[in-house]
Amino acid sequence: MFSKGKKEIKIRKILSLLIISLIIIFVPVLISGLYNKKEANVNEISLIKEDFFSYHLNEHIINSGEVFVKLNTALNLNSQQLQELLEISKNVYNLSQIKVGNGIKAFFDPNNNEFQKLEYEIDKDNILVIEKQENGQLKAEKRTIEYEVKLDKIDGKVENSLYQAGQKAGLKDKTIMEMADIFAWDIDFGIEVREGDEFEVLYEKKFFDGKEVYVGKILMAKYKNNNKDYWAIYYKDAENREDYYDLEGNCLRKQFLRAPVNYKYISSGYSLSRFHPVWGVYTTHQAIDYAAPCGTPVSASGAGTVIFVGWKNNVYGRTIEIRHNGVYTTRYAHLSGYAKGIKYGTKVVQGQIIGFVGTSGTSTGCHLDYAMKKYNSFVNPLTQNFERSEPIKEIHRENFNIYKEALLRLFNSG
Ligand SMILES: [Zn+2]
Repeated sequence: MFSKGKKEIKIRKILSLLIISLIIIFVPVLISGLYNKKEANVNEISLIKEDFFSYHLNEHIINSGEVFVKLNTALNLNSQQLQELLEISKNVYNLSQIKVGNGIKAFFDPNNNEFQKLEYEIDKDNILVIEKQENGQLKAEKRTIEYEVKLDKIDGKVENSLYQAGQKAGLKDKTIMEMADIFAWDIDFGIEVREGDEFEVLYEKKFFDGKEVYVGKILMAKYKNNNKDYWAIYYKDAENREDYYDLEGNCLRKQFLRAPVNYKYISSGYSLSRFHPVWGVYTTHQAIDYAAPCGTPVSASGAGTVIFVGWKNNVYGRTIEIRHNGVYTTRYAHLSGYAKGIKYGTKVVQGQIIGFVGTSGTSTGCHLDYAMKKYNSFVNPLTQNFERSEPIKEIHRENFNIYKEALLRLFNSG
């Protein structure tokens, strides 16, 4: 049932062997470590396997604007019961913060119609369960959804775009995007991808009750561009730092993102002399203009501290400035708005959404004006040679190498 070049590997067999060998040598790492990344919305998760037939069940998906204490009709509970459930679970999960699109279920005894249990889908990996105990008391706890993880290895060849090649090979959009993100530090998929590029990717698939629920992360990938092999290995070290590394343990991530926004095209490059579209005169443009729809999220290109948020004269409009270290600062202009919590002094991490593309100030259309200063003078961010982020720490290197070898054996046998 699987196409050529694609192999399902039962994780129980291979991965358990791998994990056992890793545990034996005290490697504090698990291939599918627990992580709480919220994935695209999937409501098909059946939160419980057992008990379906011994309860009356009221199921509901949270709609926009709904609050827990008003779910009387949806769950067939009265206000007092809802209030009680809210109180009892407070220390485990705050039900006043239920999220749109998540599932909630109330279970009743079919004989007397008495409330027995409530389940709420916190995220893809966790549920809140409030259950009536034998003594009649309610007890709340957070449970991890136990997925069965299988690994899948897929390879492909690029004819047009990576996206098309990925789809043709049977990869989900999420995995294709993830692969592009992982290698984006070294390869510009908009420009440099050549016909004949090749990729191989080993990634997780998560199953519940025999049904594939969602795709997990990429564990290892190889991309061949212009006859050069680029490798990516996912590794979470004992201090919980997660990153992608090459075979030598160098971090693939660099100090700055290639672009702080998912753009359609560069509408104006870095130039010391350009004809200004609004002013009709020649000016310098010491920034990059990225054309993107208004409202597109803008990310901090590197970790740093926000040093300006607000309206910056009539040229830049709504603007954010970030100081990254003693050397670089970046500026994001013409925004339509700022992300929640972004103010003077806020510390941001690389890739964090700080605002949204707009056309405020002197601007002819929706775009992000992105500028970078090095030692207080403007530089072209596209031609800077940024350093990579910190490699694997020496204290984790031995474990990394053991993990890498084990993963390579899986990768090459797939
Ligand atoms: Zn500009």
